[in-house]
Amino acid sequence: MSDCLFCRIVQRQIPASIVYEDEHVLAFNDINPQAPTHVLVIPKRHVASLDELGAADDAIVGELVRRAAAIARERGITAGGYRTVFNTNRDAGQTVFHVHLHLIGGRTMSWPPG
Ligand code: 5GP
Ligand code: ZN
Repeated sequence: MSDCLFCRIVQRQIPASIVYEDEHVLAFNDINPQAPTHVLVIPKRHVASLDELGAADDAIVGELVRRAAAIARERGITAGGYRTVFNTNRDAGQTVFHVHLHLIGGRTMSWPPG
């Protein structure tokens, strides 16, 4: 999707601070970090939101979640704890309509979210 910001990052048409890449997954630092670690983990294939996922996407969702956990481990924030978030549609504040898992950590967070 040429008009999708995250597809353009996948295609290297827009620069990003990439922290991990493989055949299916890309992870990069959020441009407006909300914590010392704020990484976005995305499927390379365009999927607009969780609502668009089908059974065939189960493997990629697993890869996103396990990759977030691996990046957290690499950064030494696992014991302290971290948050993983998929925002979906308006009420959750989704602004980029390409599935992305936020990995947020490195500071104490409150709950419930605002
Ligand atoms: P959402 O609100 O859709 O869950 O999250 C979108 C995230 O993408 C936001 O945290 C925002 O800061 C981040 N973002 C928006 N544009 C860019 C960009 O061009 N580059 C990077 N690295 N992150 C972006
Ligand atoms: Zn996309």
